[in-house]
Amino acid sequence: MSNPIQAIRGMNDQLPDDLTCWQYLEQVASVVFKQFGYYEIRIPVVEKTELFARSIGQVTDIVEKEMYTFQDRNGDQLSLRPEATAGVVRAMLQHGLLHNAIQRVWYAGPMFRHERPQKGRYRQFHQIGVEAYGMAEADLDVEVISMTSQLWRKLGLTGVKLEINTLGSPESRVEYRDALVKYFQANRDSLDADSLRRLESNPLRILDSKDKAVIELNRVAPDIFDYLDSASREHFERVRLLLERLGIGYIRNPNLVRGLDYYSHTVFEWKTDKLGAQNAICGGGRYDGLVEKLGGRPTPAAGFAIGVERLIELLRIEQRCQNRERTDIYIVQTSESALEMGLSLAMKIRDVGISVISNIGSTGFKSQLKKADRSGAQLALIIGENELQTNSVTVKQLDSGKQFSVSTEKLLTEISSFLEQAE
Ligand code: AMP
Repeated sequence: MSNPIQAIRGMNDQLPDDLTCWQYLEQVASVVFKQFGYYEIRIPVVEKTELFARSIGQVTDIVEKEMYTFQDRNGDQLSLRPEATAGVVRAMLQHGLLHNAIQRVWYAGPMFRHERPQKGRYRQFHQIGVEAYGMAEADLDVEVISMTSQLWRKLGLTGVKLEINTLGSPESRVEYRDALVKYFQANRDSLDADSLRRLESNPLRILDSKDKAVIELNRVAPDIFDYLDSASREHFERVRLLLERLGIGYIRNPNLVRGLDYYSHTVFEWKTDKLGAQNAICGGGRYDGLVEKLGGRPTPAAGFAIGVERLIELLRIEQRCQNRERTDIYIVQTSESALEMGLSLAMKIRDVGISVISNIGSTGFKSQLKKADRSGAQLALIIGENELQTNSVTVKQLDSGKQFSVSTEKLLTEISSFLEQAE
């Protein structure tokens, strides 16, 4: 036997026991999004590389170092999506949805980034996010933030903290960028290699450096707030005012700039202190320039993306995940004619919404009961010669071992009421 093939580093299987929590999260999120008037959209996992280069930005870590890019058999340059915003804009443009009734959408699915795998950082990870178009008002920024806040509440999460900042309009950012470059140039000696590189390409990104000396430098770096034009300032003030009115607590983090190029005005992140270094569970903000960059009419937009793996881990730590639901019934059938009766009973039982595993294979009574026990089902229905002759079924409670006989006519009512009581 050759060695079994393993999954790719940084790409994880989600096993049945893990998925209970995932499905719970997806279900709660989809209800919350629907309550805000958002509709689901599904887009391909692969897009033209150019889409990401144009939207996320050539000089971002994602496009420079992290994308899974390849040539397909036609010689087209394609990439696995590292995030979904660019693809959603592409789809909205392609189908003419941006200026129609559907301007609020949500998505969920896998994203791919070739980062260094560690706890909370994977190469295939999952995001659930929303995007909304056509509304330039700060009210939209607050709407998307309040959706996340509502979601945490519904999930029973406590202790997640909101950080916000503004990146202003592109015009006010030009002046700020100059001031930053001047400041960092005057302090070149304290910059690490990565920051030196960013000083040329994307100086704002120095603000979220993890290097100790640079963090110190950032404490007293110029603050964008002092460079905002009056419209940008008003926009940010309104975000703050509405958040306060809604009772959504936040802190302003002047160093919050986020990794993607397309943000403007409000940016935000939800953080937790329970997950170690990878402490952001959700990031988002406004990205007014992106639609135009991708060939559409100028269209304001805002959105966020939640990191599903991190959120699930947090839900586990806070014991907010339920256990896997048990299968209700396992049918044990000890002969060919018992099997026929069992199969047709199973169909009837499933019709009323009860889950049934029908034994396949081994005909021995003992081995089937063992399988019933191992399956985690609550009840075993046993059909043997006796039962066939008396048109009845033996019902065995697998936890206690108790058993009783029920006529086939009364079977549905009996097992329904037993399962209801057991809930
Ligand atoms: P971003 O698309 O970079 O703004 O990320 C949004 C959220 O996705 C982050 O706050 C994380 O929770 C999550 N995330 C981003 N990259 C990864 C990754 N490599 N592995 C796991 N989660 C990630």
